[in-house]
Amino acid sequence: TAQNPLLAVEGVETYYGNIIALRGVDIAVFEGEIVTLIGANGAGKSTLMMTICGNPQARKGRIVYDGEDITHLPTHDIMQRSIAQSPEGRRIFPRMTVMENLQMGALVTDGASFDADLQRVFDLFPRLKERQHQRGGTLSGGEQQMLAIGRALMSRPRLLLLDEPSLGLAPMVVKQIFEVIKDLNREEGLTVFLVEQNAFHALRLAHRGYVMVNGQITMSGTGAELLARPEVRAAYLEGG
Ligand code: ATP
Repeated sequence: TAQNPLLAVEGVETYYGNIIALRGVDIAVFEGEIVTLIGANGAGKSTLMMTICGNPQARKGRIVYDGEDITHLPTHDIMQRSIAQSPEGRRIFPRMTVMENLQMGALVTDGASFDADLQRVFDLFPRLKERQHQRGGTLSGGEQQMLAIGRALMSRPRLLLLDEPSLGLAPMVVKQIFEVIKDLNREEGLTVFLVEQNAFHALRLAHRGYVMVNGQITMSGTGAELLARPEVRAAYLEGG
């Protein structure tokens, strides 16, 4: 029997005013997978991520999560359905401490597993434990990214949405963050949808990938298949 995807994006069109940004996008993410979406600056990757979260909403098509049509739900309802997002630009709370940021992530839970969840985030990112009393805004870029992911994990997601976690980070830090994503997937079966401009790292990490050009999906396949495609190499990997 064919398994249903945990997340299905079906024929989605999204507009900014009269301007179309997504032109009929189809994507499926199955439970236990890491799926990546790669594409150039301005292709519409962040718009897709935001559309999944309901802001802006799709004007056509639908988004189905765990069998439920969530296309027209408000963002706060979507975020209560075991979906967590770590948005581009990180958007942690800069004036709150690391600990307070993590507490914010746990607000959608009943709190029963807070201590264990916190311990897990500190195990994944020991730097956050060391800096737990420091304000978010005083962290380095890499630490802020770790905090954004840690905050998302505190909500105990089944699906983790990551928008460009490698943006602006040193190669060593990128490697560390991608290792954590891989471990979460392997050890806990966490399902991950990862938007990245860093195509090389993303395709090596992901089970499957999609390529977006100008608001449309132009290619899909396993990470290894896409890495081997000359068109992908020429457009996204050469010199990168
Ligand atoms: P980046 O890596 O730069 O984030 P992206 O692939 O995520 O690129 P989007 O940010 O989704 O691309 O942008 C897709 C298109 O929609 C671009 O042409 C962009 O200029 C346009 N766009 C994005 N946000 C808005 C907005 N708030 N209002 C109008 N147009 C927008």
